[in-house]
Amino acid sequence: MGKPNLFKRIVAKCGLSFVVKTIILLVLVILLITFILLRNCEDFCEFYSQTFVQFYTIVFGHISSFFPFSLFEIFAIGTILYSIAWIVFFIVNTKKLGIKRSYHMIMRLGIILLTIFVVYQGTAGINYSRGPVDVPQHKELIEDPKDYKIITDKFSDDFNYCASQLQFNEAGSVVKPYSTDVLISNIEMEYEKFESKYLYKYSPRAKPLYLTGWFYRMASISGVTFVPVGEANFNSLNNDSYLPFTVAHELAHTKGAMPEEDANLVAAYICLNSEDPYIRYSGYDSTFWSLESLVMATNNDDDLNDFYNRLDDNIYRNNNYEYDYWKEHATFEKIADKINDWYLKFNNDEGTTSYSDNIDTTETETEFKINSYSRFQALYMWMYFDKN
Ligand SMILES: [Zn+2]
Repeated sequence: MGKPNLFKRIVAKCGLSFVVKTIILLVLVILLITFILLRNCEDFCEFYSQTFVQFYTIVFGHISSFFPFSLFEIFAIGTILYSIAWIVFFIVNTKKLGIKRSYHMIMRLGIILLTIFVVYQGTAGINYSRGPVDVPQHKELIEDPKDYKIITDKFSDDFNYCASQLQFNEAGSVVKPYSTDVLISNIEMEYEKFESKYLYKYSPRAKPLYLTGWFYRMASISGVTFVPVGEANFNSLNNDSYLPFTVAHELAHTKGAMPEEDANLVAAYICLNSEDPYIRYSGYDSTFWSLESLVMATNNDDDLNDFYNRLDDNIYRNNNYEYDYWKEHATFEKIADKINDWYLKFNNDEGTTSYSDNIDTTETETEFKINSYSRFQALYMWMYFDKN
């Protein structure tokens, strides 16, 4: 009889379960490191996103769209319940059998956590390292800054027109003119009109967060996308004026635009180019104030005063309502913001600053100047100069 080989000897000494779990953990760690390293190669991320992640999203998006409720919510609640149960069992087990006999519980937890990280990195994570999204941008600065006022007037007037087509309640909030289901279908149709090579054609069904909406409102979160199940979720306690932009933003994530600045730019394009005054209003509601610095660059106080006075009172009332609404409920906004900042930075994004528009101006004692257009400004300029 020959000597038992090394593997058999290890199994005999440590037990099969320990060996199998160790191998799974090692494979998961290698996969995780591989995905993190591959994020440095933009071409690979683009190829991988357009092939594997797109296919994955179509498959899981169809499965999750079959359920009328949010699978992400079930996953989040399940994770919390499992964590509590794990801690209780771990303490009981350790007391009864000692810490050395609890290793299998730690290994099992490690496998579950690492599997979630690997699936997340292999789907959503890679998409953070793609190139910029292909939303049209007009980047060439105009020759005479005085013209900025003429350009912004066009959009101020359209913002007012959208407001004139909507109802506002006593508190000042826009009232959604139709059901959320109709809105979701309308946003999906807006996406079908957008010819993008970057975004996946498939749109999963956007779903409301009913069970955890109150929690996300406390964190000032209007929507969450969970790519592992191909699901775009929006907070059911969102403002009506912000809802179309949120749905468009979360859908952009499921269509491959993971960085916040990209999802915001896509949502801006989708909403601002809609024929529907409600959806367009939502686009202005989230992006219009990026035009303020263009008007400041005319260096004429009358222009700026007219820019402020030109807007309908209902727009200001709705703005104040939105501000007060989120402020009133933002119990753990700061902590949630910090966690989101870490999460985005870990995924190669700039952090929570990427939510805001990249306004680029210089101010001296005599002059206020635009150095380059921000993303939203360049989109508005494209709509003014280049859109058919
Ligand atoms: Zn987002």
